[in-house]
Amino acid sequence: MAKCPHCGTEVTLNANPANSKTEVRREVKGLLKKEVLYSCPSCEKVLGFGSFFGGVITGRP
Ligand SMILES: [Zn+2]
Repeated sequence: MAKCPHCGTEVTLNANPANSKTEVRREVKGLLKKEVLYSCPSCEKVLGFGSFFGGVITGRP
């Protein structure tokens, strides 16, 4: 389990409905090269950024 460095809330990447309160928020932008922003569900501060290829290349949403 990871903790938000800003407010100390435990956060998870799992999309488990029972844990939705602690699930890190993800905002995904882009069609081919996806940019994703992770933010804390409690204090809404940014936890990190990432990018991956999706869409027609990998079939990922
Ligand atoms: Zn936080």
